[in-house]
Amino acid sequence: MFMSKIDGNLVCIICPNGCRIRVSGSAGSLKVEGHACQKGYEYTVKEVSNPERVITSSVKVTQGEIPLVSVKTKNPVPKTRIKEVMNVIKKARVKAPVEMGDVIIKNVGNTGVDLIATRKVNRK
Ligand code: SF4
Repeated sequence: MFMSKIDGNLVCIICPNGCRIRVSGSAGSLKVEGHACQKGYEYTVKEVSNPERVITSSVKVTQGEIPLVSVKTKNPVPKTRIKEVMNVIKKARVKAPVEMGDVIIKNVGNTGVDLIATRKVNRK
């Protein structure tokens, strides 16, 4: 949801250029300056209306050759839900073997997004 009045700066994180973007106005008349491309504009509008992030973390593995498997959300989740999702991830356990891309938690934290493994873990 848009805040009533926006007036600030942000750094675009879509590519390594890291353009410094100025954003002001309100929902109906948003003024965006400093972006070098359309992706930066879209990122800015999203960032001030409903910011999202891909979460990366790790989950404990039982009976695995290593104790943790790296994971990430398959798609971005709202920033407001990150803490809740991290609490679910902290409590999770998965039994080896794990393949890269395996769904570790379906619909993690009721976000509608799956948590997937980003590496393989063999059974010990
Ligand atoms: S505005 Fe475009 S060029 Fe600049 S950092 Fe964002 S994606 Fe990269």
